Amino acid sequence: MRALYLSNTCSTRCSQGWIKLKRPRFALRVRGLDAAQPFDSENKLRAKFVQKRTLRIGIIGFGNFGQFLAKHFVRHGHVVIATSRGDYSQAAEVIGVKFYPDADDFCEDHPDVVIVCTSILSTGDMLRTFPLQRLKRNTLFCDVLSVKQFPKQLFQQLLPPDFDILCLHPMFGPDSGKHSWKDLPLVFDKVRIGTELCRVERCASLLGIFEAAGCSKLVWTHCSGGGRQPPRSREQAASSQFITHTVGRMLGTMELTETTINTKGFESLLSLVDNTYNDSFELYYGLFMYNKNATAELSRLELALTTVKSELFDRLHERIRSDFFNEN
Ligand code: NAP
Repeated sequence: MRALYLSNTCSTRCSQGWIKLKRPRFALRVRGLDAAQPFDSENKLRAKFVQKRTLRIGIIGFGNFGQFLAKHFVRHGHVVIATSRGDYSQAAEVIGVKFYPDADDFCEDHPDVVIVCTSILSTGDMLRTFPLQRLKRNTLFCDVLSVKQFPKQLFQQLLPPDFDILCLHPMFGPDSGKHSWKDLPLVFDKVRIGTELCRVERCASLLGIFEAAGCSKLVWTHCSGGGRQPPRSREQAASSQFITHTVGRMLGTMELTETTINTKGFESLLSLVDNTYNDSFELYYGLFMYNKNATAELSRLELALTTVKSELFDRLHERIRSDFFNEN
Protein backbone atom coordinates (compact mmCIF):
# COMPACT_ATOMS: atom_id res chain seq x y z
CA MET A 1 0.00 0.00 0.00
CA ARG A 2 1.41 3.36 -0.89
CA ALA A 3 0.38 6.88 0.34
CA LEU A 4 1.21 10.08 -1.46
CA TYR A 5 1.19 13.38 0.44
CA LEU A 6 1.01 16.57 -1.64
CA SER A 7 1.72 20.15 -0.61
CA ASN A 8 -1.12 22.33 0.54
CA THR A 9 -1.29 24.55 -2.57
CA CYS A 10 -0.60 24.23 -6.26
CA SER A 11 -0.59 26.56 -9.28
CA THR A 12 -2.47 26.47 -12.54
CA ARG A 13 -2.45 28.72 -15.59
CA CYS A 14 -5.48 30.71 -16.86
CA SER A 15 -5.96 33.57 -19.36
CA GLN A 16 -4.90 36.13 -16.68
CA GLY A 17 -1.67 34.33 -15.84
CA TRP A 18 -0.82 31.93 -12.95
CA ILE A 19 -3.28 31.55 -10.03
CA LYS A 20 -2.87 29.68 -6.78
CA LEU A 21 -5.39 26.93 -5.90
CA LYS A 22 -5.93 25.76 -2.38
CA ARG A 23 -5.78 21.98 -1.98
CA PRO A 24 -8.20 20.12 0.30
CA ARG A 25 -6.80 19.97 3.86
CA PHE A 26 -6.65 16.18 4.04
CA ALA A 27 -3.78 14.32 2.50
CA LEU A 28 -4.46 12.67 -0.82
CA ARG A 29 -3.97 8.94 -0.53
CA VAL A 30 -3.52 6.67 -3.50
CA ARG A 31 -4.06 3.06 -2.58
CA GLY A 32 -2.62 0.37 -4.75
CA LEU A 33 -2.38 -3.39 -4.42
CA ASP A 34 0.98 -4.84 -5.24
CA ALA A 35 -0.20 -8.02 -7.03
CA ALA A 36 -2.79 -8.38 -9.76
CA GLN A 37 -5.92 -10.10 -8.56
CA PRO A 38 -7.75 -12.88 -10.39
CA PHE A 39 -10.76 -10.62 -10.87
CA ASP A 40 -8.67 -8.00 -12.70
CA SER A 41 -9.86 -7.36 -16.21
CA GLU A 42 -6.26 -7.65 -17.44
CA ASN A 43 -6.06 -11.13 -16.01
CA LYS A 44 -9.34 -12.08 -17.60
CA LEU A 45 -8.26 -10.71 -20.96
CA ARG A 46 -5.00 -12.59 -20.70
CA ALA A 47 -6.83 -15.85 -19.93
CA LYS A 48 -9.06 -15.30 -22.96
CA PHE A 49 -6.04 -14.63 -25.14
CA VAL A 50 -4.29 -17.78 -23.90
CA GLN A 51 -7.42 -19.79 -24.59
CA LYS A 52 -7.60 -18.52 -28.15
CA ARG A 53 -3.90 -18.90 -28.97
CA THR A 54 -3.32 -20.81 -32.17
CA LEU A 55 -1.45 -24.03 -31.54
CA ARG A 56 0.53 -26.20 -33.91
CA ILE A 57 -0.84 -29.63 -33.01
CA GLY A 58 0.74 -32.88 -34.20
CA ILE A 59 -1.34 -36.06 -34.17
CA ILE A 60 0.28 -39.50 -34.12
CA GLY A 61 -2.22 -42.13 -35.31
CA PHE A 62 -4.63 -40.72 -37.83
CA GLY A 63 -7.40 -43.34 -37.46
CA ASN A 64 -10.97 -42.81 -36.33
CA PHE A 65 -10.24 -40.81 -33.19
CA GLY A 66 -7.22 -38.92 -34.54
CA GLN A 67 -9.31 -37.58 -37.43
CA PHE A 68 -12.21 -36.77 -35.13
CA LEU A 69 -9.97 -34.55 -32.97
CA ALA A 70 -8.22 -33.04 -36.00
CA LYS A 71 -11.53 -31.88 -37.52
CA HIS A 72 -12.40 -29.99 -34.35
CA PHE A 73 -8.95 -28.42 -34.00
CA VAL A 74 -8.88 -27.27 -37.64
CA ARG A 75 -12.42 -25.88 -37.39
CA HIS A 76 -11.26 -23.75 -34.47
CA GLY A 77 -8.30 -22.28 -36.29
CA HIS A 78 -5.42 -24.46 -35.08
CA VAL A 79 -2.71 -25.77 -37.40
CA VAL A 80 -2.77 -29.57 -37.44
CA ILE A 81 -0.16 -31.97 -38.79
CA ALA A 82 -0.39 -35.76 -38.61
CA THR A 83 1.48 -38.99 -39.14
CA SER A 84 0.34 -42.60 -39.03
CA ARG A 85 1.39 -46.12 -39.93
CA GLY A 86 -1.00 -46.14 -42.91
CA ASP A 87 -1.22 -43.47 -45.59
CA TYR A 88 -3.98 -40.98 -44.78
CA SER A 89 -2.85 -38.23 -47.19
CA GLN A 90 -6.23 -37.93 -48.89
CA ALA A 91 -8.34 -37.95 -45.72
CA ALA A 92 -5.96 -35.38 -44.23
CA GLU A 93 -6.24 -33.09 -47.23
CA VAL A 94 -10.04 -33.11 -47.00
CA ILE A 95 -9.87 -32.10 -43.32
CA GLY A 96 -7.17 -29.47 -43.89
CA VAL A 97 -4.35 -31.33 -42.14
CA LYS A 98 -0.77 -31.67 -43.38
CA PHE A 99 0.00 -35.40 -43.43
CA TYR A 100 3.55 -36.75 -43.14
CA PRO A 101 3.95 -40.44 -44.05
CA ASP A 102 7.42 -40.18 -42.51
CA ALA A 103 7.66 -39.69 -38.75
CA ASP A 104 11.01 -37.83 -39.05
CA ASP A 105 9.44 -35.21 -41.31
CA PHE A 106 6.50 -34.91 -38.91
CA CYS A 107 8.84 -34.23 -35.99
CA GLU A 108 10.93 -31.74 -37.95
CA ASP A 109 7.83 -29.64 -38.53
CA HIS A 110 8.12 -28.98 -34.77
CA PRO A 111 4.56 -29.07 -33.40
CA ASP A 112 3.97 -27.29 -30.05
CA VAL A 113 1.81 -30.17 -28.91
CA VAL A 114 1.86 -33.85 -29.89
CA ILE A 115 -1.25 -35.94 -29.25
CA VAL A 116 -0.87 -39.72 -29.34
CA CYS A 117 -4.02 -41.24 -30.88
CA THR A 118 -2.74 -44.75 -31.57
CA SER A 119 -4.47 -47.87 -30.27
CA ILE A 120 -3.86 -48.77 -26.63
CA LEU A 121 -1.99 -51.93 -27.58
CA SER A 122 0.35 -50.35 -30.15
CA THR A 123 1.29 -47.19 -28.22
CA GLY A 124 4.25 -48.71 -26.32
CA ASP A 125 5.97 -50.10 -29.44
CA MET A 126 5.18 -46.95 -31.43
CA LEU A 127 6.74 -44.72 -28.78
CA ARG A 128 9.88 -46.85 -28.46
CA THR A 129 10.67 -46.43 -32.17
CA PHE A 130 9.41 -42.85 -32.67
CA PRO A 131 12.13 -40.26 -33.47
CA LEU A 132 11.39 -38.19 -30.36
CA GLN A 133 14.84 -36.58 -30.52
CA ARG A 134 13.76 -34.66 -33.64
CA LEU A 135 10.96 -32.84 -31.83
CA LYS A 136 11.44 -29.49 -30.09
CA ARG A 137 13.01 -29.96 -26.70
CA ASN A 138 10.06 -28.57 -24.76
CA THR A 139 7.23 -30.28 -26.66
CA LEU A 140 3.96 -30.88 -24.81
CA PHE A 141 3.13 -34.58 -25.15
CA CYS A 142 -0.44 -35.81 -24.66
CA ASP A 143 -2.38 -39.03 -25.09
CA VAL A 144 -6.07 -39.78 -25.45
CA LEU A 145 -5.96 -43.49 -24.68
CA SER A 146 -9.11 -44.96 -23.15
CA VAL A 147 -7.06 -46.26 -20.22
CA LYS A 148 -5.27 -43.93 -17.81
CA GLN A 149 -2.48 -45.39 -15.74
CA PHE A 150 -0.72 -47.16 -18.60
CA PRO A 151 0.03 -44.14 -20.87
CA LYS A 152 1.04 -42.04 -17.86
CA GLN A 153 3.63 -44.59 -16.77
CA LEU A 154 4.77 -45.15 -20.35
CA PHE A 155 5.29 -41.42 -20.97
CA GLN A 156 7.17 -40.99 -17.71
CA GLN A 157 9.47 -43.87 -18.63
CA LEU A 158 10.08 -43.12 -22.30
CA LEU A 159 9.80 -39.38 -22.90
CA PRO A 160 12.80 -37.06 -22.54
CA PRO A 161 12.70 -35.12 -19.24
CA ASP A 162 12.34 -31.79 -21.10
CA PHE A 163 8.94 -32.75 -22.50
CA ASP A 164 5.78 -31.67 -20.72
CA ILE A 165 3.19 -34.41 -20.19
CA LEU A 166 -0.57 -34.00 -20.14
CA CYS A 167 -2.76 -37.11 -20.11
CA LEU A 168 -6.17 -36.42 -21.63
CA HIS A 169 -9.09 -38.74 -21.37
CA PRO A 170 -12.04 -37.52 -23.42
CA MET A 171 -14.95 -39.70 -22.28
CA PHE A 172 -16.59 -39.41 -25.66
CA GLY A 173 -15.82 -40.43 -29.21
CA PRO A 174 -16.64 -39.82 -32.87
CA ASP A 175 -20.21 -41.09 -32.34
CA SER A 176 -21.17 -39.59 -28.98
CA GLY A 177 -19.39 -36.31 -29.85
CA LYS A 178 -20.53 -36.19 -33.47
CA HIS A 179 -22.76 -33.12 -33.14
CA SER A 180 -21.30 -31.30 -30.16
CA TRP A 181 -18.87 -31.69 -27.25
CA LYS A 182 -21.12 -29.73 -24.93
CA ASP A 183 -21.36 -31.25 -21.44
CA LEU A 184 -19.26 -34.25 -22.47
CA PRO A 185 -16.73 -35.15 -19.78
CA LEU A 186 -13.00 -34.71 -20.19
CA VAL A 187 -10.66 -36.10 -17.56
CA PHE A 188 -7.11 -34.78 -17.58
CA ASP A 189 -3.96 -35.20 -15.58
CA LYS A 190 -1.21 -32.56 -15.66
CA VAL A 191 1.48 -35.15 -15.09
CA ARG A 192 4.46 -32.85 -15.73
CA ILE A 193 4.12 -29.23 -16.84
CA GLY A 194 7.16 -26.96 -16.54
CA THR A 195 6.79 -23.78 -14.51
CA GLU A 196 7.83 -21.39 -17.30
CA LEU A 197 4.95 -19.15 -18.32
CA CYS A 198 5.01 -20.30 -21.96
CA ARG A 199 4.64 -23.96 -20.90
CA VAL A 200 1.82 -23.20 -18.48
CA GLU A 201 0.03 -21.11 -21.11
CA ARG A 202 0.47 -23.75 -23.83
CA CYS A 203 -1.16 -26.35 -21.60
CA ALA A 204 -3.95 -23.89 -20.76
CA SER A 205 -4.48 -23.18 -24.47
CA LEU A 206 -4.90 -26.87 -25.26
CA LEU A 207 -7.33 -27.45 -22.39
CA GLY A 208 -9.06 -24.23 -23.45
CA ILE A 209 -10.06 -25.89 -26.75
CA PHE A 210 -12.07 -28.48 -24.83
CA GLU A 211 -13.38 -25.89 -22.40
CA ALA A 212 -14.55 -23.61 -25.21
CA ALA A 213 -16.38 -26.58 -26.77
CA GLY A 214 -18.34 -26.94 -23.52
CA CYS A 215 -16.71 -30.11 -22.17
CA SER A 216 -17.30 -30.60 -18.50
CA LYS A 217 -13.95 -31.07 -16.83
CA LEU A 218 -12.96 -33.39 -14.10
CA VAL A 219 -9.36 -33.49 -12.91
CA TRP A 220 -8.02 -36.98 -12.48
CA THR A 221 -4.84 -36.15 -10.62
CA HIS A 222 -2.58 -33.09 -10.31
CA CYS A 223 1.16 -33.01 -10.85
CA SER A 224 1.25 -31.32 -7.43
CA GLY A 225 -0.19 -34.46 -5.92
CA GLY A 226 -3.43 -32.78 -4.84
CA GLY A 227 -6.89 -33.91 -5.92
CA ARG A 228 -5.79 -37.49 -6.40
CA GLN A 229 -8.62 -39.81 -7.30
CA PRO A 230 -8.81 -42.81 -4.98
CA PRO A 231 -7.78 -46.12 -6.63
CA ARG A 232 -11.22 -47.59 -5.86
CA SER A 233 -13.07 -45.02 -8.00
CA ARG A 234 -10.39 -45.33 -10.71
CA GLU A 235 -11.09 -49.07 -10.86
CA GLN A 236 -14.83 -48.45 -10.87
CA ALA A 237 -14.46 -46.03 -13.80
CA ALA A 238 -12.39 -48.56 -15.80
CA SER A 239 -14.88 -51.34 -15.05
CA SER A 240 -17.90 -49.25 -15.98
CA GLN A 241 -16.24 -48.36 -19.30
CA PHE A 242 -15.48 -52.02 -20.03
CA ILE A 243 -19.05 -53.12 -19.16
CA THR A 244 -20.50 -50.32 -21.32
CA HIS A 245 -18.45 -51.44 -24.31
CA THR A 246 -19.18 -55.14 -23.68
CA VAL A 247 -22.95 -54.65 -23.51
CA GLY A 248 -22.84 -52.32 -26.55
CA ARG A 249 -20.91 -54.99 -28.49
CA MET A 250 -23.32 -57.75 -27.42
CA LEU A 251 -26.33 -55.73 -28.54
CA GLY A 252 -24.54 -54.75 -31.75
CA THR A 253 -23.80 -58.41 -32.44
CA MET A 254 -27.54 -59.08 -31.99
CA GLU A 255 -28.11 -56.59 -34.84
CA LEU A 256 -30.79 -54.59 -33.03
CA THR A 257 -32.64 -52.33 -35.45
CA GLU A 258 -35.08 -49.46 -35.07
CA THR A 259 -38.76 -50.32 -34.80
CA THR A 260 -41.59 -48.06 -35.89
CA ILE A 261 -42.48 -47.31 -32.28
CA ASN A 262 -39.28 -47.35 -30.24
CA THR A 263 -39.72 -47.01 -26.49
CA LYS A 264 -37.38 -44.60 -24.69
CA GLY A 265 -35.57 -47.58 -23.16
CA PHE A 266 -35.02 -49.20 -26.55
CA GLU A 267 -33.74 -45.91 -27.94
CA SER A 268 -31.16 -45.81 -25.13
CA LEU A 269 -30.03 -49.29 -26.11
CA LEU A 270 -29.70 -48.27 -29.77
CA SER A 271 -27.68 -45.22 -28.80
CA LEU A 272 -25.40 -47.43 -26.67
CA VAL A 273 -24.80 -49.58 -29.76
CA ASP A 274 -24.12 -46.43 -31.82
CA ASN A 275 -21.59 -45.17 -29.28
CA THR A 276 -19.63 -48.38 -28.92
CA TYR A 277 -20.12 -50.83 -31.76
CA ASN A 278 -18.40 -48.70 -34.40
CA ASP A 279 -15.18 -48.52 -32.36
CA SER A 280 -12.47 -50.88 -33.53
CA PHE A 281 -12.15 -54.29 -31.90
CA GLU A 282 -8.54 -53.27 -31.17
CA LEU A 283 -9.87 -50.50 -28.92
CA TYR A 284 -12.18 -52.93 -27.10
CA TYR A 285 -9.38 -55.45 -26.75
CA GLY A 286 -7.19 -52.73 -25.23
CA LEU A 287 -9.92 -51.96 -22.68
CA PHE A 288 -9.94 -55.66 -21.81
CA MET A 289 -6.17 -56.10 -21.61
CA TYR A 290 -5.45 -52.98 -19.56
CA ASN A 291 -8.24 -53.42 -17.02
CA LYS A 292 -7.26 -55.96 -14.42
CA ASN A 293 -10.89 -56.46 -13.38
CA ALA A 294 -12.08 -57.16 -16.93
CA THR A 295 -12.14 -60.96 -16.69
CA ALA A 296 -14.01 -60.79 -13.38
CA GLU A 297 -16.48 -58.29 -14.89
CA LEU A 298 -17.13 -60.63 -17.83
CA SER A 299 -17.82 -63.50 -15.40
CA ARG A 300 -20.18 -61.28 -13.39
CA LEU A 301 -22.03 -60.37 -16.58
CA GLU A 302 -22.36 -64.04 -17.57
CA LEU A 303 -23.52 -64.95 -14.09
CA ALA A 304 -26.09 -62.15 -14.13
CA LEU A 305 -27.53 -63.43 -17.43
CA THR A 306 -27.66 -67.00 -16.10
CA THR A 307 -29.41 -65.82 -12.91
CA VAL A 308 -32.03 -63.84 -14.81
CA LYS A 309 -32.59 -66.72 -17.24
CA SER A 310 -32.96 -69.29 -14.49
CA GLU A 311 -35.45 -67.05 -12.66
CA LEU A 312 -37.60 -67.04 -15.80
CA PHE A 313 -37.27 -70.76 -16.51
CA ASP A 314 -37.84 -71.79 -12.89
CA ARG A 315 -41.12 -69.91 -12.86
CA LEU A 316 -42.12 -71.43 -16.21
CA HIS A 317 -41.28 -74.96 -15.08
CA GLU A 318 -43.28 -74.52 -11.87
CA ARG A 319 -46.25 -73.43 -13.91
CA ILE A 320 -46.03 -76.33 -16.38
CA ARG A 321 -45.65 -78.86 -13.55
CA SER A 322 -48.65 -77.50 -11.68
CA ASP A 323 -50.62 -77.79 -14.95
CA PHE A 324 -49.47 -81.43 -15.27
CA PHE A 325 -50.66 -82.24 -11.80
CA ASN A 326 -53.77 -80.10 -11.99
CA GLU A 327 -52.69 -78.15 -8.94
CA ASN A 328 -54.54 -74.91 -9.89
P1 NAP B 1 -7.98 -47.74 -32.39
O1 NAP B 1 -8.22 -48.97 -33.15
O2 NAP B 1 -7.93 -47.88 -30.92
O3 NAP B 1 -6.63 -47.06 -32.92
C1 NAP B 1 -6.40 -46.84 -34.29
C2 NAP B 1 -5.14 -46.07 -34.44
O4 NAP B 1 -4.02 -46.82 -33.94
C3 NAP B 1 -4.84 -45.78 -35.91
O5 NAP B 1 -4.34 -44.47 -36.00
C4 NAP B 1 -3.75 -46.80 -36.25
O6 NAP B 1 -2.87 -46.31 -37.23
C5 NAP B 1 -3.00 -46.91 -34.95
N1 NAP B 1 -2.35 -48.22 -34.85
C6 NAP B 1 -2.91 -49.42 -34.67
N2 NAP B 1 -1.97 -50.38 -34.63
C7 NAP B 1 -0.77 -49.77 -34.81
C8 NAP B 1 0.58 -50.22 -34.84
N3 NAP B 1 0.89 -51.49 -34.70
N4 NAP B 1 1.55 -49.27 -35.03
C9 NAP B 1 1.24 -47.96 -35.18
N5 NAP B 1 -0.02 -47.48 -35.14
C10 NAP B 1 -1.01 -48.37 -34.95
O7 NAP B 1 -9.14 -46.72 -32.82
P2 NAP B 1 -9.43 -45.18 -32.54
O8 NAP B 1 -10.89 -45.11 -32.27
O9 NAP B 1 -8.88 -44.37 -33.62
O10 NAP B 1 -8.72 -44.85 -31.14
C11 NAP B 1 -7.45 -44.20 -31.09
C12 NAP B 1 -7.12 -43.93 -29.63
O11 NAP B 1 -8.10 -43.04 -29.09
C13 NAP B 1 -7.15 -45.20 -28.78
O12 NAP B 1 -6.08 -45.18 -27.87
C14 NAP B 1 -8.46 -45.09 -28.05
O13 NAP B 1 -8.43 -45.76 -26.79
C15 NAP B 1 -8.63 -43.58 -27.90
N6 NAP B 1 -10.01 -43.13 -27.74
C16 NAP B 1 -10.93 -43.53 -28.65
C17 NAP B 1 -12.26 -43.15 -28.46
C18 NAP B 1 -13.33 -43.59 -29.42
O14 NAP B 1 -14.51 -43.45 -29.10
N7 NAP B 1 -12.99 -44.10 -30.59
C19 NAP B 1 -12.61 -42.34 -27.38
C20 NAP B 1 -11.63 -41.93 -26.50
C21 NAP B 1 -10.33 -42.32 -26.69
P3 NAP B 1 -3.04 -46.78 -38.76
O15 NAP B 1 -4.51 -46.62 -39.06
O16 NAP B 1 -2.17 -45.86 -39.51
O17 NAP B 1 -2.61 -48.21 -38.80
